[in-house]
Amino acid sequence: MAFDYDVIVIGSGPGGYATALRTADFGLHTAVIEMRDEVGGTCLNRGCIPTKAYVTASHTLEYAKNASSWGLDISVNTIDMQSLKAAKDKTVAGVVKGLSQHMKSRKIDIIHGYGSLVKPHEVCVDDGEMHHTFTAQHVVLATGSYSTTLPGFDFFNGSADEVRQAVADGQAPILSSDEALDIDVIPENVVIVGAGTIALEFANIWNTLGTHVTVLLRKDVPLSHGDNHISAMMMRTMKRAGIHFETRSQLKAVENGKVTYTVHDMKSDEHKKIEKNVPADFVLVAIGRSPQTTASWFASSGLNLSDHGFVITDKFGRTNIDNVWALGDITQGRMLAHQAFEQALTISESIAGIDTKPVDTFMVPQVVFATVESLSVGYTAQEAEKNGFAQIEETVVPMLSNPRVAMLKSNGTTVIVSAYDAQSGQRIVIGIHMVGPQVSELSGTAREIIENKIPLHDAAGALFAHPTLSESLGEALLKADGRPLNV
Ligand code: FAD
Repeated sequence: MAFDYDVIVIGSGPGGYATALRTADFGLHTAVIEMRDEVGGTCLNRGCIPTKAYVTASHTLEYAKNASSWGLDISVNTIDMQSLKAAKDKTVAGVVKGLSQHMKSRKIDIIHGYGSLVKPHEVCVDDGEMHHTFTAQHVVLATGSYSTTLPGFDFFNGSADEVRQAVADGQAPILSSDEALDIDVIPENVVIVGAGTIALEFANIWNTLGTHVTVLLRKDVPLSHGDNHISAMMMRTMKRAGIHFETRSQLKAVENGKVTYTVHDMKSDEHKKIEKNVPADFVLVAIGRSPQTTASWFASSGLNLSDHGFVITDKFGRTNIDNVWALGDITQGRMLAHQAFEQALTISESIAGIDTKPVDTFMVPQVVFATVESLSVGYTAQEAEKNGFAQIEETVVPMLSNPRVAMLKSNGTTVIVSAYDAQSGQRIVIGIHMVGPQVSELSGTAREIIENKIPLHDAAGALFAHPTLSESLGEALLKADGRPLNV
């Protein structure tokens, strides 16, 4: 049977565009279907890139604020949020344009419209006026995710202008990260519900800009992933910077610019709930994201979905339907762009008939980008215990003696989790967790050490240039190996 395309990808986010770039490179005739005007998905337009543009601005502001400690007389007189937002939008537009050109140069057809899988090899595209049918040898699903609603607190439904007006009118609208990125005034007070990566990144950005930020979290520490030392230190550092955390709390009401929530009073014997109020220009609900698989065609096409709506695949991205593949935020694992990139490499190589490696989503590095960053790869000591590892050791090493950390007037901690590996008869590193300045840059190194089961003794032999921030990892590995140097 002759198909219109070798590969049709539904969705142009990191999962979709990365798959298409690689399949096109293999000489496969590839189309990408995207329902929005711009390619790049959440990551480029409403996720990784715009938030990191703001994070970069907030770092710059922090440096300027600390300049006097170096004898530099720099003053920040105004923060023009409209210009800051315009700079963020320009950054996003540049990256999206670059991607679009990149896709065209690889002769990928970008088809705008809403795509659905009708049956194996057949995709329908609704462009708002007509339905078009396309056939392909392989169909790849990469439709991404959306912000999860907090029950009882629907997101404000309106255009960017209406959101801005609601904020200006003091309505304290409930926003998702999408709308929060459109705000062009510096809010006085913001309440953030949730304490995952997205919540903490926004908390840090607004706090740096001078907003009074209250974070409502259900547990005692933020971040559901990674090591408790790291989460606790992240929270301590953010608290010191002025962010207010309400642990064991729950949002109750949002009315007339006032947010009501309850907290468990841990001091009282009965752990009574006490009610509190704070003013808010708006409430950001960032309690997680849900897979974009609610459209009826996902179920009617016969795809196997998990209880939470994720498309079930094997480690190569194959769904239960032959020649239909899925990746990115609609699949189980970490909802991160670099997971989607890794899955894209595996799927495109599988489609091209090349030997490839399965994706272990557990080993995908998790990162929070704030004034200090956190990085988590592999097992925590608790997870290692649950998974039956032998002779687990946890080494916690503060970054106090790292000169570059000190120069930044920052702090940090590295946690190395190691265990005995019966196969090699050696101690290996099974988890690396860090909090500190720019630790995200060590994500690849950390992943390689763990994934390749490099013996701890050899990993501790990695030589990091002096003086660098990355030396913190080297120092911690040496300490874990019983050869502490500067710590
Ligand atoms: P998406 O990027 O969501 O792309 C899906 C695309 O499919 C969209 O363009 C959508 O319009 C399109 N689509 C959906 N359904 C259809 C259909 N039926 N027909 C046609 N088109 C369709 N990850 C990181 O790794 N690092 C970060 O720093 C980071 N920061 C983030 C910050 C925020 C605020 C958010 C919200 C997310 C962040 N993420 C980050 C997560 C990252 O954005 C996602 O993991 C990534 O975008 C997932 O890629 P994807 O291809 O699966 O889906």
